[in-house]
Amino acid sequence: MVMRIGLGHDTHRLTAGGPLLLGGVKIEFDFHLDGHSDADVLLHAITDSLLGAANLGDIGQLFPDTAEENKGRDSAEMLSLAFEKVKQAGWSVANLDCVVLAERPKLSPHREVICARIAEILGIASEQVGLKGKTGEKSGEIGQGKIMQAMVVCLLER
Ligand code: MG
Repeated sequence: MVMRIGLGHDTHRLTAGGPLLLGGVKIEFDFHLDGHSDADVLLHAITDSLLGAANLGDIGQLFPDTAEENKGRDSAEMLSLAFEKVKQAGWSVANLDCVVLAERPKLSPHREVICARIAEILGIASEQVGLKGKTGEKSGEIGQGKIMQAMVVCLLER
């Protein structure tokens, strides 16, 4: 069996006013992520990990932030479109492992629903999606609640 590993990373700034959109799930919170699209930091990192593993470029190439059509765009739709290209190249997902770096909100109460939503977008099982939350220990821009980051590794097989 041929396998490929992919790494994705993304950063978005937090701005006052909820709800927070993370992993395709709306979470009650007093800040939201700011960006050209809907700024879903986790779905962006997943998209880049899949594209990276398949060597099909990156999210910025597929969906440039200079394009009007990508303004406020649904990241779940972008992930679906990117994953179509990955599947067309003959790949399927073995698993994803995700880390969200955020001082707040606590991720654990939302973990199951986020994993289920990611699995739904990709048409895989929830158990193929790992998700962990890490704080910045009050240091740096993550720890001060100014930004949120996501890191994702994926394994593709065919
Ligand atoms: Mg992004």
